[in-house]
Amino acid sequence: MGKLDGQVAIVTGASRGIGRGIALQMAREGAKVAINYRSSEAQAQELADEIKGFEGECMLVQADVGSPDEARDMVRRVFEQWGRIDVLVNNAGITKDRTLRKMGDEDWQKVVNANLGSVFYCTSAVMPIMVNQTHGHIINISSMNGQVGAVGQSNYSASKGGIIAFTRTAALELARFNITVNTIAPGWTLTDMFAGVPDNIQDQIKGRIPLGRFGSSEDIAKAAVFLSTDADYITGEQLNVNGGAFMA
Ligand code: NAP
Repeated sequence: MGKLDGQVAIVTGASRGIGRGIALQMAREGAKVAINYRSSEAQAQELADEIKGFEGECMLVQADVGSPDEARDMVRRVFEQWGRIDVLVNNAGITKDRTLRKMGDEDWQKVVNANLGSVFYCTSAVMPIMVNQTHGHIINISSMNGQVGAVGQSNYSASKGGIIAFTRTAALELARFNITVNTIAPGWTLTDMFAGVPDNIQDQIKGRIPLGRFGSSEDIAKAAVFLSTDADYITGEQLNVNGGAFMA
């Protein structure tokens, strides 16, 4: 018996990387999982096949969650299919790194909207459903770079810091409906997003991680499953999953 048997989870940006790891682990725990992707249909389908391979239940939901209409329509389709939504993982995210001197309006707007706007659009869409159920867990994927400065990432850091602030307010407002809202702040995690970092920089970064290795999608997925199963009395919190790289 899985810890999420009978529950429905939406994971945004689940075709690759951290989102994929979370969707897979939630499906292994028995959740019916809505796999959201924007453009990587083949990879999303591959994940769906893997889940179906162990008799798990899932559906694909294509949507650009940076679009309010598409995000809300995605939630509507999942609710229509399964009649409830217990877990929302706001994971989809992008980077467009530029130093401030080179950053244009579009670099700023695209990143802040895809990373932070999407969290609002998806949360506001699932909220009435979770309120009606008086049950729900919302997990927002922030970043260690929303806690510390990162050269070339003013847009990304602002969006990820914004997620931390949003989480606290949403947690306060939704607690009386038995809905928890928490943040996971991953450190450097081995995915396509991190693969763009040059090898020599990766070596320098690794030297600064007390546990001596980069994170994996599975490391983040374990934290997401914890926050959606065994963490009923935890809300408005931030779980740092970073190998000890950020000790305030
Ligand atoms: P990734 O490998 O680049 O995957 C990003 C995922 O997000 C893809 O599935 C992509 O789907 C999806 N996506 C992006 N924009 C979307 C949109 N507008 N609508 C729907 N889906 C969208 O990235 P990752 O490393 O797994 O990152 C996942 C999350 O963790 C992000 O929020 C990121 O900021 C955060 N994070 C990552 C690290 C790290 O070191 N990797 C560290 C801290 C935090 P398509 O391919 O279909 O576009």
